[in-house]
Amino acid sequence: MFHNKAKNIPSGGTTEAIKYLLGLGDLLTNSLLTYDALKMSFRKLNLSRNPDCPLCGENPKITELFDEEQAVCDLKEGSRGN
Ligand SMILES: [Zn+2]
Repeated sequence: MFHNKAKNIPSGGTTEAIKYLLGLGDLLTNSLLTYDALKMSFRKLNLSRNPDCPLCGENPKITELFDEEQAVCDLKEGSRGN
C-alpha cells in the first residue's frame, strides 16, 4: 500500500514548478519546507530573502561557477595520496 501511495506523490520541486507555471496555489516563496522521513512529518519555516546574500542578494559577488579547493579535508587529501 505504501509503495502505491509513494509513487503517486511527485517531488516537492516538481509540484512547485507545475504550480508556478499554472499560476495556481501557494508557492513556497520565502519559506523552507523540511521533511522528516522517520516521523513522516513536514514543517514549514518562513524565511526572508537575505539582501546581502553573495549569490542572490542585491549586489551578488558570486556570478560564475568555480571549483573551490577546500583547505582542510582529510578525505580529499587521502584520496590524492599527498
Ligand atoms: Zn541567496
